[in-house]
Formats: sequence, structure tokens, C-alpha cells
Amino acid sequence: MEKTKKRKCNFCGRTDEEVTFLIQGIDANICDDCAKRAYEISEELVQQNAPKSDLELEKVPRPIEIKTFVDQYVIGQDNAKRFLAVAVYNHYKRLMQQDSEDDVEIEKSNIIMVGSTGTGKTLLAKTIAKLLKVPFTIVDATVLTEAGYVGEDIESLLTRLLQAADYDVAKAEQGIVFIDEIDKIARKGDNPSITRDVSGEGVQQGLLKLLEGAVVNVPPQGGRKHPDQKMIPVNTKNILFICGGAFDGIERKIAQRMNTHVVGYQNVRDHSSVDRTNFMQYVMPQDLKSFGLIPEIIGRLPVLTYLDPLDRVALRSILTEPKNSIVKQYVKLFEMDKVTLTFAPETLEFIVDKAIEFKLGARGLRSIVETIMTDAMFEIPSQEVTAFVVSLDYAKKQLDKSERFIA
Ligand code: ADP
Repeated sequence: MEKTKKRKCNFCGRTDEEVTFLIQGIDANICDDCAKRAYEISEELVQQNAPKSDLELEKVPRPIEIKTFVDQYVIGQDNAKRFLAVAVYNHYKRLMQQDSEDDVEIEKSNIIMVGSTGTGKTLLAKTIAKLLKVPFTIVDATVLTEAGYVGEDIESLLTRLLQAADYDVAKAEQGIVFIDEIDKIARKGDNPSITRDVSGEGVQQGLLKLLEGAVVNVPPQGGRKHPDQKMIPVNTKNILFICGGAFDGIERKIAQRMNTHVVGYQNVRDHSSVDRTNFMQYVMPQDLKSFGLIPEIIGRLPVLTYLDPLDRVALRSILTEPKNSIVKQYVKLFEMDKVTLTFAPETLEFIVDKAIEFKLGARGLRSIVETIMTDAMFEIPSQEVTAFVVSLDYAKKQLDKSERFIA
């Protein structure tokens, strides 16, 4: 009895009375606290020594290949496609360079995409993700709030990335995060409010930390941090952030800025050469600032690209051209019932007209087609037909029947 009382932890020197329990080895003991600490240290060392990157430059797609792939799914948006393709390729390069002794450090270039809702920002990100050789996740900025408020802490952005990397921290640290609706965390108005701005500036400060590169403790299951949840430290230095936002009304701000500039600097841009149908293409970092993003965040998103508004021609193409276009999907559905489905060309024009009329953009195309096709999808599987043509009359009749679309 006397002998056991004198047993000590050989790491911290505390006796078995001072600790919860001692684990006995051959010639030494370790207490529960030191065992825990030893486990943490060994985990850190394993991570530090893990190979940084198993990427090989020859095996990753070149920017043109990336764009060609994305072209199969996303109509137009050439500017955004080129910027994204280059950014992803450079991201690979930077990861590979981490392993070398080279002292030219390639800095990461986080991206911000500005474009009206439904113009393809998320689709672009999702499509590029199919090609990626690093973990990728899409998160919505609207759920984020400053720590301590209802909503999710900013660190939870990285929870999804960890999940995408199967909790392999080293892999997650090379990943790409797409933050959707970044404009929703913009400060409301240019003047900081005296009341607490729960989802504005505080969140932006938190996000800034992630963009700059920091070791952050990530709750492995996401959501709110709670005291007994074990945090996983993740270094964001090499994580590429792609942000997207609609920035409603930004075109007006761009137009205003350009008008003042056109007067001031006649030589810089000839008044007549301005494309007044699409101001988005002239977006500049200062336009985002006037929208409520703090300058530090804008500085950390050095690549700014835009999405064009979708015109008639684009909407018409979106209906039929992408590899998994809406029309192709319905044709496939009918094919499974051995029915050949065709849309009359004037029906497609009509669908585009309606999408424009209802101001639904590309997002509306699907719901319009769905409304037109529901009866046919209900009845045809039980009928003896081998072909079905969606005529203009039929489409009009079906749409008229639906209360949803009666203005
Ligand atoms: P955003 O993220 O810009 O709000 P999305 O990428 O979610 O818009 O687009 C909504 C839907 O509209 C997509 O799922 C897709 O079906 C269609 N769409 C939008 N833009 C395009 C495009 N440029 N090419 C093909 N489909 C598009």
C-alpha cells in the first residue's frame, strides 16, 4: 500500500494522489494529463511530417483544359471562367512550390466574383470542383455571425472543408472554399452603426483572418463551438478562397462612378465606347467598398471578376446546350419510358420569353419547363405513345393552367 502511494508520473512529477490516475509502464509511469498531452504532441508531429502535397504539375489540368471542361456545362461567362481557371492552376503551382526550397514565395490570389443572382456563380464553382484534385466546399455566408451570436461561427466555414477532406487536416489545408453570398455580410450602408452589427463587420474581421492565413480552431462537427468539443487546428495559409456575390444595385454604383470619371478623364475611356447594357464588366474594387465590404477584405481578394447578365441568347442556349441542360434532362426522363420527347423551337423561345417576363433568369427556366411538363409526365407513362412533341399551344395551355405563373 505504502509503495503505490509513492508512485509518480515520470513526466510531470505528480504523485498518484495528485492526478486522476497513473498508467504504469515497465520502468516509469505516466499520468492521465501527460498521456493526453503526449497524444496531442504526437498528432501534431505526424501532421507536420506528412507529405505536403502529392500533386504533380504534369498531372493537373492546364487553364485552357479547365475552361474547355467548364464550357460544356456553363454558357458564356468567359471572363469569370478564365480567371477561375488561372486561379485554380496557380493554386496547384503554389502548393507544389511549398515543398521546394525556393525562396520566391508565390502568394495566393483569392478571388471575388460579382454577378446577379442566377447567372452561374455557383454552377461555375461546382463545375470546376468536378475537376479538382484538392478538397472543395461551398458555404453560404448568410449563416455566419460574429462569435457569441445565433448562427454559425466563421470557423465553421472550415468544418465543411475538413469533412470534404475526410478530416485529413493536411489535405484540407490545400483545399478551396467557395463562399457564396459574400455581399450579405457587407456592412449595412457605409456608416458603421452605433448598434451592434452582428452579421456585418465582426464577421468580416473574422473572415479577414481566414483570408490572410491563420491557424484557427475548427469545430469538427460544425455549428456552434461548445466547451467539450475538441477543436482541430487548421492553417488557412494555403487555402484558396473564392467568393461570390450578387451585390444588388452595384451596376448603378459602377455607372455613377464611370460618369464622374468620364467627365474627369476623357482620355481614359471614351464616353461612346462604354457598353451601357452591361456595366458589370467595368466593376472595380472600390465599387465593392461602397457596398459595405471593409477595405482589408477587398485587399485580400485581389482577383476581381464578373458574370455577365444573361440575355435572351444566353437563356436560349442554357435550355439546350449544356451537357446536362434542362431539355436534355427531360428527354432522358421520357426516354426511360421509351418515349421520344421533342420541344418545338417556338416552344423554347416561349419559355425564354416567360423567364424574362417573370424576371426569373436562368433559375426560372427549370420551373417553367417543370410546370409545362408535369401533366405529360403524369399521364404518358401509362399511355401507349412512343413520341411526344411539346408544341407552343400545349406549352401555353399548361402554363395558363398553373396559378403560379398567372401574374
Ligand atoms: P448564382 O450562383 O449566380 O446565383 P447559379 O449558378 O445557382 O446562380 O445558377 C442557377 C441555375 O441557373 C443553375 O443551376 C443553372 O441551371 C442555371 N444557369 C445559370 N447560369 C448559367 C450559365 N451561365 N450556363 C448554364 N446554366 C446556367
